[in-house]
Amino acid sequence: MSRFILALDQGTTSSRAILFDRNGRIAGIEQKEFPQHYPQSGWVEHDANDIWQSQLEVAQTLLRKQSITAGDIAAVGITNQRETTVVWDRKTGEPICPAIVWQDRRTAALCDRLRAEGKEDIFRRKTGLVLDAYFSGTKLNWILTNIPDARTRAERGELAFGTVDSWLIFKLSGAHVTDSSNASRSLLFDIHAGTWDAELLALLDIPAALLPEVVCSSGIAAQCDAGWFGAALPIAGIAGDQQAATFGQACLQQGMVKNTYGTGCFMLMQTGEQAFVSDNKLLTTIGWSMQRQDERHTCYMLEGSIFVAGAVVQWLRDGLGIIQHSNEIEALAAQAKDNGGVYFVPAFTGLGTPYWDPYARGSIHGLTRGASKAHLARAALESIAYQTADVLSAMQKDASIPLKELRVDGGASRNDLLMQFQADMLGVPVVRPQVTETTALGAAYLAGLAVGFWESEQEIVALWQTDRRFEPGRSDEQRKELLTKWHKAVSRSQRWLI
Ligand code: ADP
Repeated sequence: MSRFILALDQGTTSSRAILFDRNGRIAGIEQKEFPQHYPQSGWVEHDANDIWQSQLEVAQTLLRKQSITAGDIAAVGITNQRETTVVWDRKTGEPICPAIVWQDRRTAALCDRLRAEGKEDIFRRKTGLVLDAYFSGTKLNWILTNIPDARTRAERGELAFGTVDSWLIFKLSGAHVTDSSNASRSLLFDIHAGTWDAELLALLDIPAALLPEVVCSSGIAAQCDAGWFGAALPIAGIAGDQQAATFGQACLQQGMVKNTYGTGCFMLMQTGEQAFVSDNKLLTTIGWSMQRQDERHTCYMLEGSIFVAGAVVQWLRDGLGIIQHSNEIEALAAQAKDNGGVYFVPAFTGLGTPYWDPYARGSIHGLTRGASKAHLARAALESIAYQTADVLSAMQKDASIPLKELRVDGGASRNDLLMQFQADMLGVPVVRPQVTETTALGAAYLAGLAVGFWESEQEIVALWQTDRRFEPGRSDEQRKELLTKWHKAVSRSQRWLI
């Protein structure tokens, strides 16, 4: 009997492969970073072949190191950095240009134009998204407009568009599919009807021939070619990273919320089979879809997206060089008893929820002669918690359900100082699970449920276990004072480029 599910977790900065056993425990993990490209201010690109090669390499290395064969694996689950846009030649399987990464702001002007033409409401109503450069639709438009011959070739059906899930599945199996959660981030997909939308495609001038088939997040979507892992393996789970993490956090009841602290921060609240429309600039998005008794069931979410979270720590490491490893930031920040009046708005690529300002840029406020690198480190960590508090406050305005606790995961959730400060700023407990690789775990669960490796969602709920619970410790007054200064700093970063 197969003992494991293989999860492929294709993140923004690295590709990971993880084996999970029946208890949802990690049995082996392999990870590889790959290059980021910043060709112009506000542009972020990946080489789609780096994405594929690094992902394949970590999966193959993992199986080799663990002496595991395809027979030990019940299914493959895929989760991915979302919105990143890849266009490739269907025949050669080669990308026609660099992948445009979710953080890339090059299509901000196109979004402005569509907004000025009064189109925002159509996008919002059908896709649940705001008209922002973050999503794939305008990135795909950019490629078709700027890469020579792309539009004519797309119209002839020679090219394929996909987000990273789609790209990896194409490379692994030759199938051209995506799942509902990834499709819901494209600005092209009607999340209520569950179909690509002709009106939106026309608005963004995108030929339908480019699009993948949309399949369930949990269900056998394709078979990996036998050449990759020694035998054919079913790809049975697909979900965008944040939706997968929500599943991996076992947020399987309406009203449960998780926040992932990776490169960016993403807070998602499960709203069940009902798609809530936000009045506070949150996104409505598809969490996952499943086949039950011949019917496709869709679970919706409210989402807040913060573009720069853990990436601010990387900037202190790579841009300033004041730490050598990301995990050194905690000790450095702890050298300062408070932020010393320093506030750091890491709007490197604009601001996401609830500001949605592509023209904001980073800034540091409140520097005095006494400010040290410890204050800067602290201000950087605090900025992650303040941004999260802003998103949660928008979420609480939208949803009538008060938050009981925040489940956390992602690289920066290992930082105890940050997690304690987060609980302090939210006024609710922050709970970190034992398995923080929840993104990969969610993809594994989705795949495992589809092939009967796990029997039910109840089984998954029972597997979730607490590592540490951070109780809020500050008074409302202290919280308000810090947040007021933070908002003052944010207002000075906003619309910087205009
Ligand atoms: P992604 O999947 O987006 O690549 P991860 O979940 O792997 O992100 O998290 C990596 C991010 O977490 C990096 O931006 C890194 O700077 C940050 N990070 C890692 N360890 C720590 C830490 N101890 N404190 C704060 N941030 C950290």
